[in-house]
Amino acid sequence: MGAIEIELDPLPCRWCQKLIKQPRWWRPKRHCSRWHRVKSRLTEALASVLELL
Ligand SMILES: [Zn+2]
Repeated sequence: MGAIEIELDPLPCRWCQKLIKQPRWWRPKRHCSRWHRVKSRLTEALASVLELL
């Protein structure tokens, strides 16, 4: 057919390990929802703060 098809493996959510289908190969999703991304960011921020203390 000549069309370029890029197969993407579903990535697990960093928060709940749920597999996420990747609709866009140029911007992989690492979290299944916005809320999980927020939670993940908050814990990362908290961890870095705790390291500084
Ligand atoms: Zn999740």
